[in-house]
Amino acid sequence: MSFEKFALDEKIFAGVQSQGYTTPTPIQLKSIPPIMEGRDVMGLAQTGTGKTAAFVLPILQRLMQGPRGHVRALIIAPTRELSEQTHEVIEQLGRRTQLRSASIYGGVNINRQIKKLHDRVDIISACPGRLLDHLNRGTVDLSHVEVLVLDEADHMFDMGFLPDIRRIVKRIPTKRQTLLFSATMPSDVQHLANDLLQNPLEIRIGRTAPVETVSHRFYPVQMDTKTDLLKDLLDHTERESVLVFTRTKSRAKSVAGRLDKSGYKVISLHGNLTQQKRQKALAGFRDGQYEIMIATDIAARGIDVTNISHVINYDMPETTDAYTHRIGRTGRASKTGEAFTFVTAQDAGLAYSLKKTLGDRLTYQSVDGLTMAVPADPASHPGSNHSVKGMKTQNGNGRSFSPKTPGSRSGKPRSFKPAGRRSWSH
Ligand code: AMP
Repeated sequence: MSFEKFALDEKIFAGVQSQGYTTPTPIQLKSIPPIMEGRDVMGLAQTGTGKTAAFVLPILQRLMQGPRGHVRALIIAPTRELSEQTHEVIEQLGRRTQLRSASIYGGVNINRQIKKLHDRVDIISACPGRLLDHLNRGTVDLSHVEVLVLDEADHMFDMGFLPDIRRIVKRIPTKRQTLLFSATMPSDVQHLANDLLQNPLEIRIGRTAPVETVSHRFYPVQMDTKTDLLKDLLDHTERESVLVFTRTKSRAKSVAGRLDKSGYKVISLHGNLTQQKRQKALAGFRDGQYEIMIATDIAARGIDVTNISHVINYDMPETTDAYTHRIGRTGRASKTGEAFTFVTAQDAGLAYSLKKTLGDRLTYQSVDGLTMAVPADPASHPGSNHSVKGMKTQNGNGRSFSPKTPGSRSGKPRSFKPAGRRSWSH
C-alpha cells in the first residue's frame, strides 16, 4: 500500500515524497481516508506512530480548495515543542502548496506572531494559553476555522488546559470537522471528546501501552548509584541518540553537568531555560551535536528526533501514562528502541503495574556492583518470577551488553549486595 491510493493533490504528494515516506503507517492508513471524507475522528494512538502526517495531509488536501488567507485549520497542542514540530511538518509536507502556517506559543515575543497573523495564514498550530491571549487581543480570527485538531489531548488535560480549550472552541464555528488524538483516554478527555466531536470514528492503534518496537529493561538501583549506572550503560550500549528523563529540573541540570564533566556530549532540556535555549538544545540534539539529552517530562513532550535509540528513566515516571509518553520518544515510526528504567525501592508500586502491562517485553537486568539484587519474593519486589538467562544479554535489535568485571567501575564500597550482570525474563 502506498500513498498514491489516497489520491492526494500532486503538490502534497510531492511533499510526502520529499520526506521519504513510502508506506503509510497504520494510523495513516486508517485515518487519512475518513478524515478526507470529512468525518470526525478520535485517534487513540501513541506518539511516534506517524499521527501528525495522518491529520496534516488531509488538512492540506482540504485547504487546496477554497479561499486563502483565512485561518481554516487550527491544531492545538500542549507544548511549544509539539506546536513547533507540527508547524514544521506542515511546512515540509505542504512546501509546494503555498498554504501558510504559523505556530503560536508563549515564552516568545508576541509582536512577531501578531505580524505573521496579520500577514494572513491558513493553518495555525498553537498552544492554548498564547492562542487565548491573541483571541483576547483580537489579533487572531478563528471564525473561518473548518478543521480543529486537538493533539495529545491527555497531556493537555494533565497540564490543566481543558478549560482553555473549551474557551477557544467557543470562538470557532460549530459547523466544523474535529479530530482528537490522545495516547490514553482519561475520563475528562472522553467527556471533552463527547462534547466536541460528532459521531466520531474511533481509531485505535496498538494497545495503550508503549509502542511494540521498544524493549523494556528495569534496573533495581539505589538513588546514589544512579549516575554511575547511567554512565556504565552509556559506555556499554551500542547507541544512537539517548534521551534521559529526570523527575525535576534541577536534577536534569545536575546529571547533565556530571556527564559533561566526564566527557559525554550532553545537553539538558527543562522548563527553566528560555525558549531560545530550548530550541538550541533541541536542534543540537537532533543534529547529533549532543548525543545525550537529559530532560524533564514537560520539556520532552513532542520531541521528534527519529534516531533516539534509548530512553533512560533515570527517575521513574509518576504514572504508567507518563511512562508511555516518555517511551514514545524512541522506537518512532518503524525504528526499534530500548527503554531502561532505574527502579528504586520507592518505585516498586508503579514498577509492578508496568510489569503487568508490558508482560514479557519487560526484563529485569542487573549490572555488577551497580544494581541491587532482584529479590526472589514476588511480594517484595515487582516481577521476581525470574529465570537467569546468562551473563551476556542481547536484545531483539542486536545491541548487546558486555559484562564487566564485578566492581570494576569505581571500586567504591556499596551498601547493597551487588548482583552479577544477569537478565531475568518473566
Ligand atoms: P509522529 O507520530 O507524527 O510524531 O511521527 C513520528 C515520526 O515518524 C516522524 O519523524 C515522522 O517524520 C515519521 N513518519 C511519519 N509518517 C511516516 C511514514 N509514512 N513513513 C516513514 N516515517 C514516517
